Amino acid sequence: MKLYSDRCAGCEACVNACPYNAVTMQGGLPVFSDACNLCGACVEACPSEAIERPGNGGPAVEASPHRGIWIFGETKDGQPTRVVLELLAVGRRLAEKTGQDLGVVLAGDRLGTMPQNLIAFGADRVFLVEHPDLAVFRDEPYTAVLAAAIKQYRPSILLFGATTTGRSLAPRLAARLRTGLTADCTALDIDPESGNLLQTRPAFGGNIMATIMCPVNRPQMATMRPGVQKPATRDGGRTGEVIRLETGPSLLLARTEVLGFINRNEEMVNLEEASVIVSGGRGLGCAENFSLVRELAALLGGVVGASRAAVEEGWLPYAHQVGQTGKTVSPRLYIACGISGAVQHLAGMQGSDIIVAINRNPDAPIFKVASYGMVGDVVQILKSLIEQL
Ligand SMILES: Cc1cc2nc3c(=O)[nH]c(=O)nc-3n(C[C@H](O)[C@H](O)[C@H](O)COP(=O)(O)OP(=O)(O)OC[C@H]3O[C@@H](n4cnc5c(N)ncnc54)[C@H](O)[C@@H]3O)c2cc1C
Repeated sequence: MKLYSDRCAGCEACVNACPYNAVTMQGGLPVFSDACNLCGACVEACPSEAIERPGNGGPAVEASPHRGIWIFGETKDGQPTRVVLELLAVGRRLAEKTGQDLGVVLAGDRLGTMPQNLIAFGADRVFLVEHPDLAVFRDEPYTAVLAAAIKQYRPSILLFGATTTGRSLAPRLAARLRTGLTADCTALDIDPESGNLLQTRPAFGGNIMATIMCPVNRPQMATMRPGVQKPATRDGGRTGEVIRLETGPSLLLARTEVLGFINRNEEMVNLEEASVIVSGGRGLGCAENFSLVRELAALLGGVVGASRAAVEEGWLPYAHQVGQTGKTVSPRLYIACGISGAVQHLAGMQGSDIIVAINRNPDAPIFKVASYGMVGDVVQILKSLIEQL
């Protein structure tokens, strides 16, 4: 903490305010120990405005030249991932609310028309770094390249998908930039008073939704769960700017080398990008009955999901779990078979366009969110649906 000793009245309000006992008085002035984590409680408690966080400042934020909303353009198999398109939809709304530009920072090799494609999906500017060493994601060069771009262009907001890549890159970058990061957000908005990013995510095991702000440091960084927002739609008529960024050997240093990719042997499932999901719960009664769920999913061109109860029974691997501690999905069609509709399950699927629920209990909570309900024995209903299809 920075102390303006000429303003300090020696009142000890900071000592009393500190939740970490990190402030003691010496010679009539406060001294901050290593236990201080810059929480700012003393700044707020000080009646004479004699304390400031180092290298920041409340007022400094307003005067800050940070401007622009950036999205990390994660790619897979030469395409932006679906969460990038979801972030473009969110980012567009934030950009319009704040009057800022929406940018995508895109790193890779031979990315072809991807920058123009991202502009068509809503970006105003694409910051492009191309180099063979960036062809495959690795934390170190990606962090260095992005940190350099951010220091040069100083965006105010920086968003990532909460994917394996985003969850690896964003915290490393936040530490490098000495700013905060809210992980796994389900909603993002702008505070009308301060203009700060409102970052909402479940907290305390999903029992409350917490809205977090990063009022002091910049950029404001968040990862957003895939599947909680609708993706942006393409408008081939949009125009924008592609800015090529230079890179150099010092930014591309890495201690790791990617030798290749090996697909895990277990069943692969991409729930977040599926447009049809047939999910099974404990009401199916046994693992064998999941073959009906699989069959219906195959007939509809969809994939198989599961409630946590079904996963805990060992009927399907965790990769299939939908819900608060599983995947968040938003398919066009979600069929819940023998799933009660606990709030933690709903948290992962209520963004689906059409929900069909099959349950023998007409009062099961799943029917409250269902577009169509079928009351009866799930095994019989599945067999009959399969037969008809
Ligand atoms: C912190 C936390 C996180 C959690 N995260 C998740 C999560 O990510 N995903 C998740 O799913 N859950 C999660 N849960 C668990 C959640 O609370 C429920 O326990 C779980 O979703 C219940 O699964 P289920 O609906 O399959 O089973 P049950 O609640 O046992 O419901 C079975 C349903 O099947 C119906 N049924 C039974 N037999 C038949 C039949 N023959 N024909 C038709 N219907 C039948 C019953 O009427 C009942 O409605 C979490 C819980 C906590 C505390």
